[in-house]
Amino acid sequence: MSLEVFKELAGLSTTIGKQPDFVQSGGGNTSVKFGNGLMAIKASGCRLSEMTADKGFVVINQQAVKEYFDRVDMSSGTDYEKDAVEFVNNNIVDFPGIAKMRPSVEAPFHSFLKCVVIHSHSVYANILCCSSEGESLASRIFEEELFIWIPYVNPGFTLSWVIKKAVDERVEKTGVFPKVIFMQNHGVIVSEDTSSSCIALHEEVNRKIIDFFQLPMPYPAPSIQKVNEGQYKSTGELVTSLFDMSKANYEYLDHYALYPDQLVYLNKSFALKDRKILVEVNKEVLYNASEREASGIEDTLAAYLYVLDIISKLKLNVSVLNDEQKAFIYGWEIEQYRLKQAGG
Ligand SMILES: [Zn+2]
Repeated sequence: MSLEVFKELAGLSTTIGKQPDFVQSGGGNTSVKFGNGLMAIKASGCRLSEMTADKGFVVINQQAVKEYFDRVDMSSGTDYEKDAVEFVNNNIVDFPGIAKMRPSVEAPFHSFLKCVVIHSHSVYANILCCSSEGESLASRIFEEELFIWIPYVNPGFTLSWVIKKAVDERVEKTGVFPKVIFMQNHGVIVSEDTSSSCIALHEEVNRKIIDFFQLPMPYPAPSIQKVNEGQYKSTGELVTSLFDMSKANYEYLDHYALYPDQLVYLNKSFALKDRKILVEVNKEVLYNASEREASGIEDTLAAYLYVLDIISKLKLNVSVLNDEQKAFIYGWEIEQYRLKQAGG
């Protein structure tokens, strides 16, 4: 039985993960609940597109994590940021033949949503999530009852806690479970009873945003080409047309900080001594990285440029992370781990 669940999760993950407009590099995560209170969830830093029925996910005791969040007492003085991660890691269930890894740091919020969960960094959702008008636009595109909007909070414990409170409050007030959750400056979560209905709902949410803004389709595919051993150049339309020397610096990316994954996968590549992204005078965008890492940077850069470009074309106001929010991400130990895993 459990093997079927792993196949189901891998199928769901690769379906979503192979679309660079939905998921870039190690971003996004998926989960399926099964058995007696267990949940298979993407492992931290792994890529959704690379998940198989025996690699790229972990099994955790979802019931225990859910109950842990029911017991949270914010007045207790507990360092929940640390404690919650430890608790989740202590509730990993070993399965023979499954590679040992850390669960996604976003595992807690999966534990109190519906049976199947897809969390993506969809560029369409992020047009809403990264603009100041996003919440009110979402109310025009979607039925109020269907979704909740989560104002930006630090990822990790705080985000899961805020989502739990918002979901509980909504269910109590309306009796309707919010299947769609928009997270400001981050992405979207959808949850459903089955994998096929969850994929369909994720598709529908994105389709509605595309239709509302009449966005030209298809999404221009990111792509890279080998130049030398350890060096690749961008051949994707978005990066080659939208990225130039004026943007190819840490200051630009830091100023227009849209979401945590941009800081982890792009900004850090600029901050490193041996810079991984180079823009030459003849406008070639070069990645000094392995093929896998270069394609991850290309996908992330393309999505980032797309979201910024569309927000500007739609004459919306871009919403960016403040210094405190950025400092939290830059200093996050968990992200160091995630970056290492995703880079391979
Ligand atoms: Zn995320």
